[in-house]
Amino acid sequence: MSSKRQQFSERVSTIPPSGIRTFFDLILEVDDVISLGVGEPDFVTPWSIRDEAISSLENGHTSYSSNSGLLACREAISKYLKERFKAEFDPKSEILLTVGVSEGVDLVFRSILNPGDEVILPQPAYVCYAPLIEMAGGTVVLMDTQDTDFIPDPDVLKSLVTSKTKAIVLCSPSNPTGRVIPSSVLKSIGEIVKDEDLWIISDEIYAELSYGVEYTSMASFQDLKPYTILLSGFSKAFSMTGWRLGYLCAPPELIEQALKIHQYSIMCPPTLAQYAAIEALNSARDDVEEMRKAYMFRRNVIVKGFNDMGLDTHIPEGAFYCFPSIRSTGMDSISFSKALLLEERVAVVPGEVFGLGGENFIRCCYAVDLEDIRTALFRIKRFVDRLKKEG
Ligand code: PLP
Repeated sequence: MSSKRQQFSERVSTIPPSGIRTFFDLILEVDDVISLGVGEPDFVTPWSIRDEAISSLENGHTSYSSNSGLLACREAISKYLKERFKAEFDPKSEILLTVGVSEGVDLVFRSILNPGDEVILPQPAYVCYAPLIEMAGGTVVLMDTQDTDFIPDPDVLKSLVTSKTKAIVLCSPSNPTGRVIPSSVLKSIGEIVKDEDLWIISDEIYAELSYGVEYTSMASFQDLKPYTILLSGFSKAFSMTGWRLGYLCAPPELIEQALKIHQYSIMCPPTLAQYAAIEALNSARDDVEEMRKAYMFRRNVIVKGFNDMGLDTHIPEGAFYCFPSIRSTGMDSISFSKALLLEERVAVVPGEVFGLGGENFIRCCYAVDLEDIRTALFRIKRFVDRLKKEG
């Protein structure tokens, strides 16, 4: 019989570890792998941002900040969101700085959910939402978006709303599909949210990275302001994954609740990162644009490569992922990804780990050196050709 000490929290022990992580443990065992797996920019943080952080250290900015984060940083974010995305948030009462969007997602679910409350989650989706909803005591209501090319259909969404529904999660541009939700669809979802009195949780961490489409932030709709929770951060667009800085924007009454959890468990995100973020917003816009253009070029190369080898791939309008269909190979995404890794030393993420609708797809990150993308495509084609021959 196991000891009392070994009986861990049921809520936590029943949750499986991240499918992405499990897959990456496998990668460590194979040499000379080209990884299209990790969702992380290959650029180093722009120099002006690093330089500012060095000066901040030299100036001795090594203490805690206020729990909500430096007011100057929240003011810079408020100004940026208004200018760039027509989203208005009061820096004093409606913005909380978090340890990445990851902490923001956790704070939101823990602040709004009571046991049994339902959250509608369109999938395939980024892996953190479902476990964090469950760990906060909520119930996940899944919605498969494969039939609508990974854009959530407002009618299907409405059909899933019950008296227990508390919130809907959206992520645009999407990890893992790269799709951008059109403004008209956001508007229709907004109508449902208003009619049913729900929260809309909008993860816009890739908002800066869209290609050739008009990007609309959910937070730009003024009439939806009381319902909207915006999550974003510096990891992706500013290439600052290791700095761990994000922000949660929401009505003051929600921020008040989230702040309690944050102040007891986190205190504040790294102060140095907050100084660096102010600089990022003030001076790194050209760097962001340069990186965006590089991603767009690589997107075109990789999407063409997959379509040419017979793996149907829609053109993703944002983020830095493409999501080729592997249906034509007859393999499931886990077997495909494992065999590709072992036989050709290319790492991709099996679509299955992103939930419903992902099983016939693989996620490939193209925030990777162009030459590596070309070599990876060559190896994947060799693998797919072999599968076809073996029939
Ligand atoms: N949200 C999405 C959609 C992501 O893809 C990621 C990271 O991959 C995160 C949130 C977490 O980002 P952060 O580094 O800000 O915690």
